[in-house]
Amino acid sequence: MIPNAIVKGSSMWNLWHGCHKVSPGCMNCYVYRGDAKRDVDSNIVTKTKNFDLPIRRKRNGEYKISSGTLLYTCFTSDFFIDDADVWRNEAWNMIRERNDLHFLIITKRIDRFSQCVPNDWGDGYDNVTICCTVENQKYADYRLPIYKDSAIKHKIIICEPLLEGIDLNPFKIGEWIDQVVAGGESGSQARVCDYNWVLNLRNTCLSQNVSFWFKQTGALFFKDGKTYSIKRQFQHSQARKARINIESGCE
Ligand code: SF4
Repeated sequence: MIPNAIVKGSSMWNLWHGCHKVSPGCMNCYVYRGDAKRDVDSNIVTKTKNFDLPIRRKRNGEYKISSGTLLYTCFTSDFFIDDADVWRNEAWNMIRERNDLHFLIITKRIDRFSQCVPNDWGDGYDNVTICCTVENQKYADYRLPIYKDSAIKHKIIICEPLLEGIDLNPFKIGEWIDQVVAGGESGSQARVCDYNWVLNLRNTCLSQNVSFWFKQTGALFFKDGKTYSIKRQFQHSQARKARINIESGCE
C-alpha cells in the first residue's frame, strides 16, 4: 500500500505518450479513443512537454510539485514500453531525486520490468508503487508469477477492465500484495463486467487479508440477472454504493 504518511495530495506526471496494444484489456484503450478524436496516431510514442515535471522549480527555487504528493505516472502510455528505453534512465533519475514524492506506475508489461530498472534499484525504491494489470485468467497466470518475483516494495494488482472471473487464490496474494483493485470497462464499446467476478476477487482478498477496492462498475454492468448501462459520471459512485471495499485487510 502507498504509505499514508507521505500522501498529502495527488497529481499526474505524463512523461511519454502513445502505446501499442499487448493484450485483450487494451482492445478499447482510452488512449486510442482519445487520440482518434484528435486524429493522433497512438502507436507513435513521444516524450511529452511535461517530461521533467517532478524536478521543475519555482522562481524561489522550491520544487513546483510539493513534498508528499502522490504522482500518477505515465497514464497515456506504459512506463515499461520498449520505445521509451532511451528516456527511462532520465525518468529514474528524477524519481530518485524526488524521494519525497510517491510515484504510482501501472503496467501491462511487467515482463519487461527486470530489464528496465536502474543499477541502484536493489529490492526497490521506497517511493515507487508498481501496479500490475491483469484482465483475465490467462494474463493473471502469465503476469503474476513474474510480478511476484519482481523486486518491488509496493505492489497492487489491478483487475481492470475485468473481462472474466479471475481466480487469484493460487497466487497466495496475502504474502506479497498490498491491494487488489477491480473495475469494469468504460466507453461506448465496453464489454460487460459481472458483479460476481468482482465479489469473487473480494472474497479472495478477504480470506487472504488483502485490501480491496471496487473502483468503478464500467459502462456495462451485470448484476442479479440484469445488465445495466451506466453513464461515465456514475461508474465510480455506483461502485462506492456497493460498499464492498476492504481497508487494510479488514472489512
Ligand atoms: S498498455 Fe495500457 S495504454 Fe497501452 S494500449 Fe494497453 S491499455 Fe492502452
